[in-house]
Amino acid sequence: MRKINIFDTTLRDGEQSAGVNLNLHEKLEIARQLERLGVDIIEAGFPAASKGDFQAVKQIAETIKGCSVTGLSRSVQSDIDAAWEALKGGAEPRLHLFIATSPIHMAHKLRMTPEQVIEAAVSAVKYAKRYFPIVQWSAEDACRSELPFLAEIISKVIEAGASVINIPDTVGYITPKEYGEIFTFLKNNVQNIEKVSLSAHCHDDLGMAVANSLAAIEHGATQIEGTINGIGERAGNAALEEIAVALYIRKDYYNATTRLNLQEIKRTSNLVSKLTGMVIPANKAVVGKNAFAHESGIHQDGVLKEKTTYEIISPELVGVQSNSMVLGKHSGRHALRNRVEELGYTLSEEEINKLFVRFKELADKKKDITDDDLVALIFEEKFDHFKEFYQLSSIQVQYGTNQIPTAVVVLTDGQGNEIQEAATGSGSVEALYNTLERCFQTDVTLLDYRIESVSGGRDALAQVFVKVRANEIETSGRGTAQDVLEASAKAYINAVNRVFMIEKMREENQKVAIR
Ligand SMILES: [Zn+2]
Repeated sequence: MRKINIFDTTLRDGEQSAGVNLNLHEKLEIARQLERLGVDIIEAGFPAASKGDFQAVKQIAETIKGCSVTGLSRSVQSDIDAAWEALKGGAEPRLHLFIATSPIHMAHKLRMTPEQVIEAAVSAVKYAKRYFPIVQWSAEDACRSELPFLAEIISKVIEAGASVINIPDTVGYITPKEYGEIFTFLKNNVQNIEKVSLSAHCHDDLGMAVANSLAAIEHGATQIEGTINGIGERAGNAALEEIAVALYIRKDYYNATTRLNLQEIKRTSNLVSKLTGMVIPANKAVVGKNAFAHESGIHQDGVLKEKTTYEIISPELVGVQSNSMVLGKHSGRHALRNRVEELGYTLSEEEINKLFVRFKELADKKKDITDDDLVALIFEEKFDHFKEFYQLSSIQVQYGTNQIPTAVVVLTDGQGNEIQEAATGSGSVEALYNTLERCFQTDVTLLDYRIESVSGGRDALAQVFVKVRANEIETSGRGTAQDVLEASAKAYINAVNRVFMIEKMREENQKVAIR
């Protein structure tokens, strides 16, 4: 069977989803899980974009040794230099260079002639080859480029040293048949094409990203780029879990395989969804909540008699397990640590100790601590702490049917100063958020508010997700507590802290606009 390399860009293209801003700890955790999943290449970010991006790419490259780590770079020397500084400590440093090749992008965005674009691409590849053993070259907006020009520039960048050629459908415009034909055209019209591997990168604007990627495999692509859960710019990228499972289930047809450990799919999908705040639709293929639920009587009857009557993918294949009760009041530190490791999280000694305290507090109030509860606590301990910004000390909310809801909040800021405010609102949450807004002394617009229970039962933890806009930055936040109002307050503080964090990073370095 042909081996297909999986190039994951959840941390680069995926992180470009509107409202998604991951911090360093969150990016590292996703990278570790991607390594466990078995992707071949992790695109960790765009090192020249900002100091924060640079640091994240550098840390990921230095941490991840089980796969290659790459970073995106425009075809300019300063970008390549920054990428090398960030990636040189990695196990197999590779660079992802790009330049636009469509008439519309060359004329309006780059304001360069086709000859100038070829020259810039070739000299960037040559320059990158001084440092990087592997250089991947992408023709941005390849699918709206003129094919003879595409063949010409690809032939020249291969001559200059590129070893992977990526054909992105940047705007999600192509159809499977046409996309396959581009690969066939290039194989027939670029003389030195057999020296390189061909890669597909599809966007889902017309809902065809996965189908296009599979068409590329049929026509000679040996690398597929995409993201977990298909998150990404606009309608998102090709969903890697869907491609991997399609190749597995239909190996009779595709005769191709990946290195992915399919049983890690569900865990990876959950982690990415929780950390990015991007909900997985219930009907989403492979990882949706309903993907394995049989509802109609006829279907249920069939599945009971013989599973394969209506089930082509078994839930176990992708690591779906029923939520098991694991820990309780009498569980010790050792049991907790083991379970955390089994769940795939990496915590320091200090973090385990803090988690244990929180775990004991929860176990006093709640009988069974499920995996989901534990994950919620881990998130709070590991990712939602912003010591340098605001932290909740206490809240008090008054509500009655014939009263005006009132909230009193005490926060501490990064310097340890206490801030106390009170305000009213037309409901408890509004009173709370009005009060918090006073504490921050910043206008905050609440764009979305969602509440869900972490597991079943009346004593379940509440988890609140919010999306806010403040200081022209849109970001999400989450908070967990046994009480819904406390969870609401934590989510709001978490989101606003992220705004301050992004502002701080922006001050350090203006983020450049990227594709
Ligand atoms: Zn893209």
